[in-house]
Amino acid sequence: MMTDKLSNLVAIVGKQRNFFQTGKTKEITFRLQQLKILKQAILENEKAIFQALQADLQKPEVESYISEIKVTQEIDYAIKHLKNWHKPKQVAVPWQLFSYSARIHPEPLGVVLIIGAWNYPFNLITAPLVGAIAAGNCTILKPSEIAVHTSNLLAEIIGKYFHPDYITVVEGGVETSQKLLTEKFDHIFFTGSKSVGKIIMEVAAKNLTPITLELGGKSPCIVDTEINLEHTARRIVWGKFLNAGQTCIAPDYLLVDQKIKQDLINSMKKCLIKFYGDNPETSPDYARIINQKQFDRLANLIKDGEIIIGGETNSGERYIAPTLLNHVSLTDAVMQEEIFGPILPIIEYTDITEAIALINSRPKPLALYLFTQNKKLQKQVLQETSSGGFCINDTMLQFGVPSLPFGGVGNSGIGSYHGQASFDTFSHYKSVLKNSFWLDLNWRYAPYKGKLSFLKRLLG
Ligand code: NAD
Repeated sequence: MMTDKLSNLVAIVGKQRNFFQTGKTKEITFRLQQLKILKQAILENEKAIFQALQADLQKPEVESYISEIKVTQEIDYAIKHLKNWHKPKQVAVPWQLFSYSARIHPEPLGVVLIIGAWNYPFNLITAPLVGAIAAGNCTILKPSEIAVHTSNLLAEIIGKYFHPDYITVVEGGVETSQKLLTEKFDHIFFTGSKSVGKIIMEVAAKNLTPITLELGGKSPCIVDTEINLEHTARRIVWGKFLNAGQTCIAPDYLLVDQKIKQDLINSMKKCLIKFYGDNPETSPDYARIINQKQFDRLANLIKDGEIIIGGETNSGERYIAPTLLNHVSLTDAVMQEEIFGPILPIIEYTDITEAIALINSRPKPLALYLFTQNKKLQKQVLQETSSGGFCINDTMLQFGVPSLPFGGVGNSGIGSYHGQASFDTFSHYKSVLKNSFWLDLNWRYAPYKGKLSFLKRLLG
């Protein structure tokens, strides 16, 4: 079935193009109906989705619910706002063009490709799909082959609820992705690593295909002294160890004011025990590393610095304990590459300018977290750093607010989505100027003799 699809790629894309040409996907009633079908598909298959995520990542149901199933929130938001987003917007014209009117019309792009990563394998395919449907496109979905159970399930669900000429899943790994990329798409939406992002951009350039790149990086988390210690510890531990740290916007490392460092460490240790017990390996609420390759990479990173708590591993189970690291060096691998696992290095600073300088000396992160009640400090860090998103006194939840565009800047990505940003990503905003026939002044027509001085006065 999978290979069939791969050898028929040209035909699949061709059929989607033909379907797009019928104009059906441009109808708002059709789009709304398809969004409702997507929601229904998710709700009716909730149990199977939980099971697939459990099989891939041993993801606890609560985590799957919040971070994968609740993509339905994006659907509800799109259903609620679609008519408004889709409405052409009238804009002003210069007074000299008083007989004209100007509008901006969003229109769908055509046939789009969505490529997903393995860490939130259901959400990272379906969330952009909401935007593609809302904007009126046909879509080919390529889930990550690494989260194989979720990929299979997505293919099954999408195949059952949608016609393949409209939306279809093409499963497979790098080869499949590469084959897909030889086709001409009207947009490529990619979630994944920086290195593959570069490949996508290079291939897309050959066809002048617009792209969105949702990448990763090292997201810092600054902790000042003016905080509620217990709340701070809980929110950091939750954001870091959810999905065993395999989250693109997880706090990658802490930058802590040295005056509060030991208190924060003590509080986080208590919190870890409260969340996952004395032995997190036996906790039903703690996920596993996706595969052996990632496990080996992470097990190696633990060797850097000094373990405060955690550090235990079980290769057969692909288990890595939630680990806090002290005394890491900025040149250690754990501080050079995106961690993307349950390891949290803690670095202290004596003055906030040191923390800001460190962040600014590195590629722009996808998220930046700041814990402080000090408004002046909030303003300073916000103004003096650049990051895809910024979250004060919490972690991760910026991802769950549909009215906030989600995306990176610089090395952490290009473009954004969620809420209206998803609709915008998969739309072209067509500028439309309209004249009428009741007047046709001749100031712009040849012969130009004697018209320049008048034009200078008219146009200022
Ligand atoms: P990856 O780049 O290895 O793979 C992503 C997708 O690209 C997969 O579907 C894969 O099949 C495909 N792919 C892999 N190699 C390819 C190639 N040579 N040519 C074409 N396609 C190829 O990423 P991953 O390991 O699945 O995900 C981890 C990365 O994703 C991390 O860096 C993480 O930060 C990032 N991420 C970002 C977000 C975000 O929203 N910004 C979300 C999740 C993950």
